[in-house]
This record gives sequence, structure tokens and C-alpha cells, in this order.
Amino acid sequence: MPRKIDQTKCAGCGVCERVCIIGCITKGDDRKRMIMDSACVDCGACQLACPIKCISR
Ligand code: SF4
Ligand code: SF4
Repeated sequence: MPRKIDQTKCAGCGVCERVCIIGCITKGDDRKRMIMDSACVDCGACQLACPIKCISR
């Protein structure tokens, strides 16, 4: 099951995008990040790294 980013909380810092091992986190016009569900391998690195803990399963 892919991780999800809470769009109401994401601060757009980009930490998750930098740690994603397969590069499946993208940036919207508002700088909030999104996870491409079909590509996510559920490693959990982004969830651990997010400073405001807005990524969950
Ligand atoms: S769980 Fe892993 S593969 Fe999925 S978006 Fe986060 S860092 Fe990338
Ligand atoms: S690390 Fe968290 S706050 Fe930063 S861009 Fe990713 S989801 Fe948003």
C-alpha cells in the first residue's frame, strides 16, 4: 500500500522528495508534494524523514 501525503498539512519543504529511493514524489504548483501511488514501493523513508509527520500509510 503506498504512503499518502496529507495535502492540508504538507509544508512543501521537499525533504521527502530528496529521500525517496525511486523518485516517485512530485511537486505541485503550490510546492506541496504528491506520491505517485503506482510507483511507490512502500519503503517508508519519506514518512520517517518528513519533519512535520504528514505522511502516513
Ligand atoms: S514510501 Fe518509499 S517509495 Fe514510497 S514515496 Fe515514500 S520514499 Fe518513495
Ligand atoms: S517532507 Fe513532509 S512537509 Fe516536506 S514536502 Fe514532504 S510531505 Fe511535505
